[in-house]
Amino acid sequence: AKGKRLDKVLSNMGYGTRKEIKSIIKKGRVKVDHQVIKDSSMHVDPYENHIEIDGMKLIYKEFIYIMMNKPQGVISASFDPKVETVVDLLDHSYQIFKPFPVGRLDKDTEGLLILTNDGKLSHDLLSPKKHVSKTYYAHIKGKVDQQDILSFKEGVILDDGYKTLPAELNIIKSDEISEIELTIYEGKFHQVKRMFEAVDKKVIYLKRVAMGDLKLDQGLGLGEYRELTQEELGKLK
Ligand code: URA
Repeated sequence: AKGKRLDKVLSNMGYGTRKEIKSIIKKGRVKVDHQVIKDSSMHVDPYENHIEIDGMKLIYKEFIYIMMNKPQGVISASFDPKVETVVDLLDHSYQIFKPFPVGRLDKDTEGLLILTNDGKLSHDLLSPKKHVSKTYYAHIKGKVDQQDILSFKEGVILDDGYKTLPAELNIIKSDEISEIELTIYEGKFHQVKRMFEAVDKKVIYLKRVAMGDLKLDQGLGLGEYRELTQEELGKLK
């Protein structure tokens, strides 16, 4: 039979463990296409069939896409025994989808982070071949100048000998503490910090503001998040 087992669909949606769901179904609390169903193994198409629990219509989705404004102090992982993770910041109703962060921001980096359970989208966004752009806003100790723009455009040699791809540096303010925006097309470990180290400068504040055509929603405070709109998702695909 096509589709998925009814008990599996309901437990994936966070209505309980498989065992709890079986009992809910046995009690006649679940309807499929307006008929009470007592067989947990029935196959349903959660997008096509009308499924109700206790008279409430189920709105099924397989994938979740979340935009977060990551705060400092949390790590870009799903689980850690000691340190708070970005997934820990999500409400339980989102955690049941088992989302994970797409790529990493350092513990002390803020800004745009996508969380999803869509492995293909994540893979595509991170693929080195696709060169998805990432734009960062940063505070740099010392004056950032025209030479840095040229160096980043040409590519700089990182501490491990790797030469970076052409990147675009915009100077917003050049001063004792400079403000810049940098767009890179790859994602090496600590890349922005190491690029500035390569020109003898130090990043003292770092925030990602865009990924591809997707911009961080300025209305999201640190640690806040929301689902992507269809339009935003389209920009990532
Ligand atoms: N580059 C860095 O150095 N750190 C980040 O978190 C992201 C890019």
